[in-house]
Amino acid sequence: MKFGTLFVISGPSGSGKGTILNKVIDDANVSLSISATTRQPRSGEKDGVHYHFMTREKFLSEIENNNVLEYNEYCGNLYGTLKSEVETLLASGKDVILEIDVNGAKQIAKSMECVRVFILPPSMETLKQRLSLRGTETDETLNNRINQAHSEIDEAYYYDYVVVNDELEDAVKKIKSILEVERLRASKMKFKIDRLKK
Ligand code: 5GP
Repeated sequence: MKFGTLFVISGPSGSGKGTILNKVIDDANVSLSISATTRQPRSGEKDGVHYHFMTREKFLSEIENNNVLEYNEYCGNLYGTLKSEVETLLASGKDVILEIDVNGAKQIAKSMECVRVFILPPSMETLKQRLSLRGTETDETLNNRINQAHSEIDEAYYYDYVVVNDELEDAVKKIKSILEVERLRASKMKFKIDRLKK
């Protein structure tokens, strides 16, 4: 039986990981896990597409019922990965991407085999500009996200790959290459294990 590969992608808010991943998902044969969150939807965001939006009460009951693989509180809201999103896909042989923060990535790496990729902005100035241009944040939440970005970036050292998102297409190509290399590695490993068992 072939299990899919689990990819964990992190990077500070404004690093462009969402934009990169939308392009990667378009033509790579991989599924993006939809996280649960207690934050309010931004304009244009749809429930079940961008996130599973839920109340804090519902989120806490999902944790209580052991339906959450990892979670974290980020800028006052809870974000987490639902078991139901990931386990069935991996077991059916599909590769899955989790787009989660550094704390969630640490929790996943403790309990599951995964490949971790960190996306960096080219500079803090660019990150600030991208967040302001997005127009989704108030001055307060913008500053919170920038402060959070400083501590998140320190964690890049612990990832398997680091990609700088300077030119979007270039970053997309790099992420696709990482997926290909790691798939190949996983299937080679499976081949070796199957041969040993014969
Ligand atoms: P945003 O509010 O910009 O959509 O996401 C804020 C942060 O939450 C981002 O760093 C994003 O990667 C992270 N995040 C999104 N989903 C999850 C999740 O399921 N678990 C964790 N730990 N972090 C998440």
